[in-house]
Amino acid sequence: MDIANKLMSEIATRRDDLVELTQELIRIPTLNPPGEFYRDICDFLDRRLVRHGFNTELIRAEGAPGDSDKYPRWNIVARREGNAPGECVHFNSHIDVVEVGRGWTTDPFAGEVIDGKIYGRGACDMKGGLAASIIAAEAFIDTCPEFRGAIEISGTADEESGGFGGVAYLAEKGFFSPERVQHVIIPEPLNKDRICLGHRGVWWAEIETHGEIAHGSMPFLGDCAVRHMGAVVAEMEDSLFPALAQKRTDMPVVPDGAKQSTLNINSIHGGEAEQDPDYTGLPSPCVPDSCRMVIDRRFLIEEDIDEVQEEIFNVLKSVEEQRENFRYDVREIQRVLPSMTEKSAPVVQSVARAIGDVMGKDPDYVVSPGTYDQKHIDRIGKLKNCIAYGPGILDLAHKPDEYVGIDDMVESAQVMGRSLLDLLG
Ligand SMILES: [Zn+2]
Repeated sequence: MDIANKLMSEIATRRDDLVELTQELIRIPTLNPPGEFYRDICDFLDRRLVRHGFNTELIRAEGAPGDSDKYPRWNIVARREGNAPGECVHFNSHIDVVEVGRGWTTDPFAGEVIDGKIYGRGACDMKGGLAASIIAAEAFIDTCPEFRGAIEISGTADEESGGFGGVAYLAEKGFFSPERVQHVIIPEPLNKDRICLGHRGVWWAEIETHGEIAHGSMPFLGDCAVRHMGAVVAEMEDSLFPALAQKRTDMPVVPDGAKQSTLNINSIHGGEAEQDPDYTGLPSPCVPDSCRMVIDRRFLIEEDIDEVQEEIFNVLKSVEEQRENFRYDVREIQRVLPSMTEKSAPVVQSVARAIGDVMGKDPDYVVSPGTYDQKHIDRIGKLKNCIAYGPGILDLAHKPDEYVGIDDMVESAQVMGRSLLDLLG
């Protein structure tokens, strides 16, 4: 049997180990927010990877947003050197999961297996992918002990809340510098036969309109900030939304609706603060002197961030021309530039060949509508040879009864193993 076949069957025989590992990861409820049990999962990964000859480092992102003594932002980076000089392949998975939410029919932190699927919060996003990468790496090391270069596996914090206490922090410290790492695979749940090249950009901002408080029975003595904001929304409906719908990208974004520029109004709040649901009093009559709206603009690689901002300012200027006393502020909350790895990049080529070998088909190339940690590897780490590839169905992420298919995990572990053989064998 040639070495590639040996590796494929070696991974297949580790199926039970893969299932158990995924279950054990799901049972550590690393909820974010607030960012719990990060140290526990890092210690668990540490014990596992040290057994396979990895050198490990546990790194706390001190001072990062969210980091505190109560909720420290722990990360693990494990590195296994090969037997000769060569390149380094890095698998990066986030260890955090989002809140459970309502509607579950299974225990979200039990890792139950039903009909060939493992259920739990984080099963597909992305503890199944993390487990698949560990099994792939361990099987590769055992089958091909003379490999060259190095393998790294990281478990990082806070991807779901921007990655500042995770990949961004590590990238700042040089963990993703091109001298240290040459290929990065992020096993996010993009399906076992798809290669995700990158993501659209994000511009989050808060718009505030100002008014003047007065008695609600005499609104003419004040100035209603909510009416000003209503005019902003109307102007967006008239001019901005139709213009955004016209902008189409050549990026292979999925689903199809996300191939255009999009804008979501995340929230609008004006006037008196909302009371707790158990409050039984009535509101007091006031003209609101402030209204705030949070917008979430997702943009395309063909668009420039300055142009994206300009469009919003144009909406506001146009309202300003139409309304008296229209005053506003705009505050940026977050910006992420789009990222897209070239199809010709070595890691793309290698994983594409591996999908062909394991599944007998060509991969689909996709771009994610939302961002993930590739942004930090690209912008801070300056490493362009990065993709997301992993088992699981993206639509199940963050939903009740999230699951990952066991067969899919085995196949994508085989693809990861085959890529390791290609790049380091
Ligand atoms: Zn994820």
